[in-house]
Amino acid sequence: MTDTTLRRWQDIAPADATKLDLSKDLTITAPLNEEGERCPWPWEPQLRASEPIGQFHCGYCGAMVLAGMPHIDYGDEPAEVKP
Ligand SMILES: [Zn+2]
Repeated sequence: MTDTTLRRWQDIAPADATKLDLSKDLTITAPLNEEGERCPWPWEPQLRASEPIGQFHCGYCGAMVLAGMPHIDYGDEPAEVKP
């Protein structure tokens, strides 16, 4: 039997994730950007909570994310989302 239990990226603290690359490590879930690509390192938005920048492009996958909020997963969203 093979245990294929996925770890959720949200359950990993940024301090424990410094060596991770979720584009390669498929044992951990990852949010998707608008192109449907896995974000290699989705912890940046929550680390920038103290910066008054609001929306910015994730430096790892380019997705539009919000400072202080968990990385947005565009894979979960329908194609047309009204604000
Ligand atoms: Zn990202």
